[in-house]
Amino acid sequence: MTTPKQRVTVLGSTGSIGVNTLDVLARHPHRFSVFALSGHSRIDLLFSQCLAHQPQFAVATDPLAATELQSRLAAAGSRTRVLLGHEALDEAAAHPEVDMVMAAIVGAAGLSSCIAAARAGKRLLLANKEALVVGGSYFMDAVRAGNATLLPIDSEHSAIFQSLPTDRALWPSVVDKIILTASGGPFRTRDPATLAEVTPEQACAHPNWSMGRKISVDSATMMNKALEVIEAKFLFGLDPSRIEVIIHPQSVVHSMVQFVDHSVVAQLGVPDMRGPIAYGLSWPQRIESGTGVLNFSEMAGLTFETFDSPGHQARFPGLCLAWDALAGAPGTTALLNAANEIAVAAFLDARIRFDQIHAVNQATLEGFTFSSPASLQEILALDEEARAHAHHLVRRLAR
Ligand code: NAD
Ligand code: MG
Repeated sequence: MTTPKQRVTVLGSTGSIGVNTLDVLARHPHRFSVFALSGHSRIDLLFSQCLAHQPQFAVATDPLAATELQSRLAAAGSRTRVLLGHEALDEAAAHPEVDMVMAAIVGAAGLSSCIAAARAGKRLLLANKEALVVGGSYFMDAVRAGNATLLPIDSEHSAIFQSLPTDRALWPSVVDKIILTASGGPFRTRDPATLAEVTPEQACAHPNWSMGRKISVDSATMMNKALEVIEAKFLFGLDPSRIEVIIHPQSVVHSMVQFVDHSVVAQLGVPDMRGPIAYGLSWPQRIESGTGVLNFSEMAGLTFETFDSPGHQARFPGLCLAWDALAGAPGTTALLNAANEIAVAAFLDARIRFDQIHAVNQATLEGFTFSSPASLQEILALDEEARAHAHHLVRRLAR
């Protein structure tokens, strides 16, 4: 008897993670089929992905893009149906014929479709860390209520998941701490006094990873690691004091778990997101991923640096906002994410300086009052209000 193919929806298929996911899926045509794809812009790419993978649905969240995609697919004789708008993302995520959803949209725009997949009990492969930072325990409750399987795709969290015992019930009693590694990004050794001069191109030139522009800027400010600390807290249910960050410039050790007996288990690999993507798709089995192999004989060395030097504290002031936000009322992590999305977009548009990203994030955390959200609508409303507040701060700085 042949095993039925797993049907996969890839949300954000035109992005860096989306493209890598389709690369892994294409290596295993007997194991997976693509059910739906989604893209916001880059319609040329979405069009060619539809021709190559022949999904039942393609969601175009931008109305102009949807019309263009529809007419091009019709002219090419494709049977892929085009759906329009953000509600269609929820449909593509929760559709009864879908087995797995790759959540690879960037930012809070992906939250609603993640919740839809969670409630529908899917295997949810989470790259879209902002969705978990915004949704927090509401997100995790939806995973439990829907009996969904949530698997991390972020390389650090995949590494931690691979290092932890299979039996989740053991985690609270056996784990002493988790240690997230951070490459330090493009400015690890830069004089902090010169950060005001950083251009978007410099900030997006990551030394080890090729990624979308938003996460590249987050890696340069280290806000990516702050979001990952928050992501780890919700995924693994550990007290924030048990989460540590260490700089590891080579990005070979993807993260580690220290147990109560002080034994440390780490996961290593080349820096290529197809590794964690293949693991999420095949767990608990393993499949070929397309990544290279680690060559230990050519490795010059693996080095580690702590954050507590004055240089790193001046370079990466945003990292500690993770613990500040986790200590705040439920919803505070959503504020931090909203501020950061607005600040990064403003920096990429050259409206504020690189160092002002932190100023916007900190001022939003300190100056915005709210009541904790209890529903998806309230979370999305809080996200909107916090964005408006951050926009206001950006306008003041941009004057
Ligand atoms: P990207 O910018 O390359 O792609 C983002 C995708 O989201 C695109 O398909 C885009 O069309 C879509 N999108 C953007 N705005 C949207 C909106 N408003 N509504 C609907 N769709 C929208 O980003 P990426 O680098 O692939 O990252 C995707 C997610 O994965 C992010 O949350 C990022 O933090 C996370 N992640 C990425 C990497 C990486 O190596 N790129 C590693 C770990 C985690
Ligand atoms: Mg990561």
